[in-house]
Amino acid sequence: MVSDDPRWIVGLDIGGTNMVVGLIPFSGGEPRGLKKEKTLPLRGGEDVVARAAVMVRESIDRVPEAKAGGVVGIGIGSPGPLNRASGLVLETPNLGWRDFPLRDLVSRATGLLATLDNDANCATYGEWWQGAGRDARTLVGLTLGTGIGGGLVMDGEIHHGASDAAGEFGHMTIDTTGRKCKCGNYGCLEAYASGPNIAARAVEGLESGTESVLTALVDGKTDEITAATVYEAVVLGDSFAEEVMKETAKVLGVGIANLVNALNPDAVVIAGGVTRAGDHLFVPLRKEVRRRAFRSAVEACRILPAALPETAGVIGAAGVFKKETFGAI
Ligand SMILES: [Zn+2]
Repeated sequence: MVSDDPRWIVGLDIGGTNMVVGLIPFSGGEPRGLKKEKTLPLRGGEDVVARAAVMVRESIDRVPEAKAGGVVGIGIGSPGPLNRASGLVLETPNLGWRDFPLRDLVSRATGLLATLDNDANCATYGEWWQGAGRDARTLVGLTLGTGIGGGLVMDGEIHHGASDAAGEFGHMTIDTTGRKCKCGNYGCLEAYASGPNIAARAVEGLESGTESVLTALVDGKTDEITAATVYEAVVLGDSFAEEVMKETAKVLGVGIANLVNALNPDAVVIAGGVTRAGDHLFVPLRKEVRRRAFRSAVEACRILPAALPETAGVIGAAGVFKKETFGAI
């Protein structure tokens, strides 16, 4: 994407654990001046905004081309639910904010025009603009982390729904009487396939007496098992960890089969630590989708790992700013 347009856009991706800032060339391209810091949401929203504004200033200082060419604004990605029109974050269990005017506070603190969208929408938009979902007319994005975020891009537009709440694919029910989810529902996809829930299922198996290398990997402290420990054990050839991963692939396959039948996407892009399991995840996952969804829909759909695991959120947030402010991307 070579362009003579000298302008730049800031992307700010706020997560429950980290926040990331980067500068994106107006016509697209690699982020520059990337900065990452702990969000520390318990210090309060105003404190997060003040630190984010410092990161933005430092980021711009590090990229002389951006200083020279001009920074036109900042796109913000934040956990939701949120209201894009008012720029309010309505409530975020992960950040502890309620009706927080994030967009306007960031705008004031940085002196830049700002837009606000859901973080998972931004990540999906970033993969559509410059990542694994390029050229997809209908793109489903799933981010497996502390929770499961989802996003849907159709014909180059994020689908927001009637009240900006669309795309919560992690909370589709896959088992009517299943595990309790943080959202209050039972049997959500997230209750099985988020990082902490992958770990929790492994720990439950060990507590019922299953032998596994997992126990040795954490020196017997099973409460220290994370999803990353499970992948590590899979790579070591541990059969129990392999079972946990197969179950993860199965539930994800059920969820994705539902999405494939409902939306007929060209591509489903999966981001998050779980993709490090590679074929241990993707082979049984694709098989499960094939088994459940309509053949014509399955054959039209690529199921891929994300291409921009670290930066899709920042790139997408900047992309949202550009699209909303200038009408095209
Ligand atoms: Zn849920």
